Amino acid sequence: MSNRLAAAAALVPVVLAATLGVASADSAQAAARPGAAVVTLTYDDSQAGATWESAIDQAVANWNAAVHNVHLQKAASPGSADYTYVATDGWPQTTLGPIVPGGAKGEVDLGSQALDQGYDATRVTAHETGHIFGLPDDYSGPCSELMSGHGPGPSCTNAVPSAAEAAQVDENYAGGAGALRAGPTPSSPTSGPPPRPLPGPLPGPLTGPLPGPLTGPLPGPLPGRPPAAPPDARWSMSR
Ligand SMILES: [Zn+2]
Repeated sequence: MSNRLAAAAALVPVVLAATLGVASADSAQAAARPGAAVVTLTYDDSQAGATWESAIDQAVANWNAAVHNVHLQKAASPGSADYTYVATDGWPQTTLGPIVPGGAKGEVDLGSQALDQGYDATRVTAHETGHIFGLPDDYSGPCSELMSGHGPGPSCTNAVPSAAEAAQVDENYAGGAGALRAGPTPSSPTSGPPPRPLPGPLPGPLTGPLPGPLTGPLPGPLPGRPPAAPPDARWSMSR
């Protein structure tokens, strides 16, 4: 009897120690392998033409040198690419990411009008690639930032992300591809909608009479609330 109690009491600290040991080993392992969650994004440039070829190569190299949690790599075949570079005769514009493997595919439209106006092809391509990573436009930013786009003017040829831009991209991909797919990016029909407005009015409940006119202030645009972000982010919003 007293022997059994003594044995049970002796076991408690052993079990606790074992549990704590496992937990700290997991933490140490995760911290020691930061590269384990790197997301590889593949791209296709077969529709970008010779005009943009070197710009794409350089823009991809610049981003790969600056970020750690996501890596760009040419796709084995066009159909398998997570996003595509396409040469157009319009203005550059891009699907706003973060694009993730297995999620909605992205498209970078490399518009020749930006080149016609004297903008640097590599900076344009690096800027648009920033949208693939989920970075928004900030046209008022300095030339040292990619996402200032056309803002600093055609004389700005910087095609390297700022430290803050690289850090934001690393944050966007910090959870790895699995965590990103399970998050806001749609991977199943039941998860949230993709960040694109539906064409036309929403299919709300249309049967029955509409609710009468509201008394009091009209539900107009909310004061001080900017409009929702556009589905596509552009080099310039001016055209
Ligand atoms: Zn842009």
